[in-house]
Amino acid sequence: MIWNKVESSSLENLRKLQTKRLKETVKRVYTLTPFYKKKIDELGISLKDIKSIEDIVKLPFTKKQDLRDHYPFGLFTVPMSQVIRVHSSSGTTGKPTVVGYTEHDMDVWDEVMARVFKMAGTTEEDIVHNAYGYGLFTGGLGLHNGAAKVKATVIPSSGGFTDRQVMLMKDFGATILASTPSFALHMAEAASKAGIDYKKDFKLKAGIFGAEPTSKGLKKEVSKVWGIDYHEIYGLSEIIGPGVSCSCKHSDLLHIFEDHFYPEIIDSKTGKVLPDGERGELVITSLTKQALPIIRYRTGDITSLKREPCACGRTMVRMESVVGRADDMMIINGVNIYPSQIEHVISQTEGLTINYQIVVSKKGHLDALDILIEISDDVMIDSISEIENIKKSIQHNLLNNLYINANVKLVEPRSIERSVGKAIRIIDKRD
Ligand SMILES: [Zn+2]
Repeated sequence: MIWNKVESSSLENLRKLQTKRLKETVKRVYTLTPFYKKKIDELGISLKDIKSIEDIVKLPFTKKQDLRDHYPFGLFTVPMSQVIRVHSSSGTTGKPTVVGYTEHDMDVWDEVMARVFKMAGTTEEDIVHNAYGYGLFTGGLGLHNGAAKVKATVIPSSGGFTDRQVMLMKDFGATILASTPSFALHMAEAASKAGIDYKKDFKLKAGIFGAEPTSKGLKKEVSKVWGIDYHEIYGLSEIIGPGVSCSCKHSDLLHIFEDHFYPEIIDSKTGKVLPDGERGELVITSLTKQALPIIRYRTGDITSLKREPCACGRTMVRMESVVGRADDMMIINGVNIYPSQIEHVISQTEGLTINYQIVVSKKGHLDALDILIEISDDVMIDSISEIENIKKSIQHNLLNNLYINANVKLVEPRSIERSVGKAIRIIDKRD
């Protein structure tokens, strides 16, 4: 199901549309925000130099710190009387990042979220259980409005209260689940503890999962445990919220709605644009935003772009699932490593759950890596030699594939602390 025919437009038409929209956006930020005027002037370019979408590389980057420096509304290009919604992302230190929406911006957000729900096969017959947090975080309301736009029934359950959520999902007959993947697993465990046969007692057919880094293994486990199609959604509040991209049922890659959000991949150290297929930092330019247009925003997310045609008929460029953050990459004895790469290795071993924790510490001058992994409930391991063999095989795979030495510890089911929101995967004791 494709919501809007623009999703399958020809590349030529798409580039024309993007060019027109980029010119309008650059004119808007240049004339309405001293911040962008100064940055563009400093680069010695003028509006005339932006003749096509390819000229985007001439424009300056925007960083999260730029939004913080203009807290709260300094980069808005409309008076507050035209802003009908404000969201913010939680900052672990200092002030949050604030974003605003005009009525037009809300329409764009609803539109891209409707595309997401159609990608997951949602119709007006569906009951959407939305367990993303409602509030200043964009997740809850973003998903809510998209489900409403395609006229599904929305259950705005928000986060927390796992047992009650499981009961409501069963009793209300939810068919689509929207949540973080770790919360989906958490709910499956709660359902199983309550003695509910969640494959038989639930009517779920698909899920829209996102808001945390997700490995192939975690996707597979969520999809298997619930017996549903897995659609990964990606977004960030600085660009719009959820709804920048989403995966269709034909692959793990996420279609980017590039008529509204233009993507580039750069080398995060040099800022140089990388060719399709190469991994680097995702940079996005909003092409239609009014309240807070943003030029070449550095997301900090590491991914790559693929332009091959997709069996679903959509022509929009696809990104691979984010493999890590430019800033949460770990360096272990000189080797660059993302937690998702370790998770991928774990997921290839039978009998282990995807719940794990990485502990990095110093032993003398060297970095030491301990990885705690839970054994699955349904696996009977009764000999010590069997545990030893599993440990050895994971350690061997980590060394072979990722060039890291790790001490693997297999632990009891559910002995690693669960978090209802985002899972804490790394404990770094080095500093
Ligand atoms: Zn597709």
